[in-house]
Amino acid sequence: MAPILEVEGLQKRYASGHEALSGVDLTIEKGEILALLGPNGAGKTTLISIICGLVTPSGGQVRVDGHDIRHDYRKARALIGLVPQEIALEPFETVWNLVRFSRGLFGKPRDDAHLEAVLRSLSLWDKRDAKVHELSGGMKRRVLIAKALAHEPKILFLDEPTAGVDVELRRGMWEVVEGLRARGVTIILTTHYIEEAEEIADRVAVINRGQILLVEEKARLMARMGRKELRIELQ
Ligand code: ATP
Repeated sequence: MAPILEVEGLQKRYASGHEALSGVDLTIEKGEILALLGPNGAGKTTLISIICGLVTPSGGQVRVDGHDIRHDYRKARALIGLVPQEIALEPFETVWNLVRFSRGLFGKPRDDAHLEAVLRSLSLWDKRDAKVHELSGGMKRRVLIAKALAHEPKILFLDEPTAGVDVELRRGMWEVVEGLRARGVTIILTTHYIEEAEEIADRVAVINRGQILLVEEKARLMARMGRKELRIELQ
């Protein structure tokens, strides 16, 4: 089976001259969960932003299900759901309207049954008529995921979905990811937390200073390195 995502020799030098990515290669198979683990400034958000077509690379290639993100942007982007790090949602809009608009942005025909299934899978169905400002922080993060899933993407990017949240909310998010895995969604999530990678990933990639240091099956990696050694890699 062809990989759902192929990244080859990706480079990014920002206008400031800073080299955020220096030759990143990554291949993701359908249905897997990859944790992209790296410290602050490692290049995680830059990598995701390029894959999603939001930032132009200085070199290299990205193919989503065979579609080149630069030359075939619409087709490639339609296969991607992106959950950004920052919560930026219209405060006075209802949950239902937000997911409906998100689907419409991709030119997909109305499909209320799909949107209902998405909201139910995230325990948001009862909140569909609530306005964003009435929701808790954890619920808002779920709304971001629902928006990202509204157009039925094949691959979902979660950029630090649990940064700065308490242990309970983090566990809640892990359950959400587990539920998405059960529905066959391919997921790439970035994180600073080794425990998070350990908990939910099939494979772990470690990125630092714009380079992928390793990509390995989680079980093999944990058997080989343990948390302490991994922490040293992340410094
Ligand atoms: P964090 O975990 O803190 O979000 P990250 O791994 O996502 O970090 P990036 O946000 O991709 O890292 O940043 C990688 C490097 O590129 C950092 O040194 C950052 O300061 C730099 N950088 C990011 N965006 C820009 C930009 N628009 N212009 C210049 N430099 C940038």
